[in-house]
Amino acid sequence: MMKIFDAHLDTFAHVAEVDPEGSRSVFMQQHYPNLLAGDTKVGVFVIYTEGDTVMAKYEQAIAIMEAMSREVQLHKDKLQLITTAQDLHDIEKNDKLGLILGIEGMQFLEINYDILFLMAQMGVRHGGLTWNEQNAFAAGAGIENDRGLTAAGKQLVADMESLHMIVDLAHANEQTFYDVADTATKPFIVSHSAAWSVYNHPRNLKDEQLRILAEAGGIIGLNAWRTFLADTNQSIDDFMRHLVYIADKIGVEHIGFGFDFCDYLYGDMVNGKPLTKDLKSSKDAPNVIPLLEAHGFSKTEIEKICYQNFADFFKAQLG
Ligand SMILES: [Zn+2]
Repeated sequence: MMKIFDAHLDTFAHVAEVDPEGSRSVFMQQHYPNLLAGDTKVGVFVIYTEGDTVMAKYEQAIAIMEAMSREVQLHKDKLQLITTAQDLHDIEKNDKLGLILGIEGMQFLEINYDILFLMAQMGVRHGGLTWNEQNAFAAGAGIENDRGLTAAGKQLVADMESLHMIVDLAHANEQTFYDVADTATKPFIVSHSAAWSVYNHPRNLKDEQLRILAEAGGIIGLNAWRTFLADTNQSIDDFMRHLVYIADKIGVEHIGFGFDFCDYLYGDMVNGKPLTKDLKSSKDAPNVIPLLEAHGFSKTEIEKICYQNFADFFKAQLG
């Protein structure tokens, strides 16, 4: 079995949404078996917030934090919270699932900035500055490129670095990307995106961004979400086209997975269109391995892409 590191999972948004009373069954009964079946060893599980107001996002962030903390505390026999390099070394010797807790979209810090430190204390080690929107810190992928990182955003990046929280630019616009590249003193990641040159989508990285990411020692997690990969009839072959392109550009050392599986939110169809063929759910992750072999990647290279690149990165950055 080839272990998988998935750098982007929205699982707990689902857990908090369908399980507001805390019936304690959703994660272990619906999600955990899929993760296990797909050989997921470590995942970055994010606090994803949506809502019409920033206060609604703040309240959702707290609800998801509670759901995460509950599952981690109640299932220590099967789940391991990862906050240090040592935690990552430890779970490689057992059969637990490793959870790195992260944040997708930090706009809710506008309500209460210091909750950042509370979250760091509960074990959060990752954060994306924006989810496509303009906020007090940064401009997202949905915003024109004349805006980027703000002064408050520079402070946020500095605070995250001091807290060993990995900065994620998956949802940043280009200017924010370049501003963070200029500002950051530590490597950053793009956890769930693909290649602009293969398919033009504002969430995908241009060649220059890929080059800068690699130069900074960062990693891109390849996204399996259909609308990032191709126009129509998206399949695992489209996912592979992005992967092979990026490997040729910047080398296998800078590639991992951030599948962004959302089958549990939508079922098999989104807006009348099927999810990416053969890559819809955590249990499909091993489907990439024979394709990587067919493309001529060596066993060592496949191990790096599937797990080791992100594992080594987090070991180095978590301290
Ligand atoms: Zn996302």
